[in-house]
Amino acid sequence: MSSVELVAVGTELLLGQLVDTNTSHIAAALAENGIDCYASHAVGDNRERIAQLVREILERADGIVTTGGLGPTVDDLTKEAVADAFGLDLVLDENALAEIEAFFTSIGRTMRENNRKQAFLPAGSYPLENPHGTAPGFIAFRADGKFAACMPGVPREMKPMLAERLLPWLRSHFSVREGIVTRVLHTVNIGESEIDHRIADLFASSENPKIAVLAHDYRCDVKIMAKAASTASARASIAPLEEELRSRLQGHVFGIDAMTLEGAVLAALDERGESLAVAESCTGGRVAAAITGVPGASRRFLGGIVAYDNAVKQLQLGVPEEILERFGAVSEECALAMARGVRARLGAKIGISTTGIAGPEGGSVEKPVGTLCLAVADARGERAWTLRIRGDRAAIQARATTAALGLLWREVKIP
Ligand code: ATP
Repeated sequence: MSSVELVAVGTELLLGQLVDTNTSHIAAALAENGIDCYASHAVGDNRERIAQLVREILERADGIVTTGGLGPTVDDLTKEAVADAFGLDLVLDENALAEIEAFFTSIGRTMRENNRKQAFLPAGSYPLENPHGTAPGFIAFRADGKFAACMPGVPREMKPMLAERLLPWLRSHFSVREGIVTRVLHTVNIGESEIDHRIADLFASSENPKIAVLAHDYRCDVKIMAKAASTASARASIAPLEEELRSRLQGHVFGIDAMTLEGAVLAALDERGESLAVAESCTGGRVAAAITGVPGASRRFLGGIVAYDNAVKQLQLGVPEEILERFGAVSEECALAMARGVRARLGAKIGISTTGIAGPEGGSVEKPVGTLCLAVADARGERAWTLRIRGDRAAIQARATTAALGLLWREVKIP
């Protein structure tokens, strides 16, 4: 069976200074395209070690996909190492040179001599154009037909090169004809174990299409993956399973594929034609930031008040002093007053609030770190909830934001 292995080049990776996101991105893309990948590696910027790794891998695999080490500097050595391993010379590729020159002209800068170095490719290589940067990628071939496909390390340059140039080449090289289709159902307000309980039988009986559950902070994805003779038939085989999953997870699926939770909130507000205002304490503006990250947020989002200090809760949101004294700032009573206050003061149809203890200080026996109170106020009335969230400060703030968006989605979407 034909397969490739991945190599991430960069000493930064081995020193723990850089997280290797390229490998996970490429691995996912290969899987979706039906190309087998059995191992991945990281190696420093060292010519001999890279060449040695290339030789070792090609004793078992048919090809290698590398990222990094294609830049103009002296520590960029991937090309030289691949040429060494394959016994090839580096030769000037006129097209690559013209592209690098065009790139510099387009950004209005003068090309330096070391950028010429980037136009030298192992003899006989298949070039992979890089419209987003200066380092051209390439596929170099060993005499026996085994190959090394080398791409730049910068993710913004690597991703389009992979999608537009390398994947089509790999699919045709390995004669991958079948279509692979994935569909992701995004859920919220339901835990991984509850999902597992509801769909365990489908999980066990589904080989193709296959189901996987991926838990994120306070939300879960259910992924369906189908392989078939064509993309159309793969898509068709997913449809009945998707319908079954949706009915078992009713009230929790907020969107599919590229949809985000904040995007689903905005879409639900659009359906109802209602406006939103937020009052945030422990989330410090993260709910507002998430919602304003969605294009077109101005249609529904009026604004937010970060009311951290009690005085701001009182002055800007009209939270009564008595509530703060009797119940404290982290209480459902305070959350309700905040939601009511921001709704009234900003003239929104819906007001939502967050107040909690993000820690590490400030917890008590009855209100430990991670206590979160949320409230929603709208024409239907006022509702409040208390949750207990685990994690450090950053995790609590991120999860509280997702929890607030999840509740908001449910309140707006589900009558
Ligand atoms: P360029 O010439 O465009 O800089 P390059 O191939 O020389 O590309 P490197 O110098 O190896 O790339 O890396 C440049 C930057 O790309 C790194 O500093 C890092 O920000 C990012 N990068 C490199 N490898 C990875 C990786 N495996 N995962 C995530 N980011 C990476």
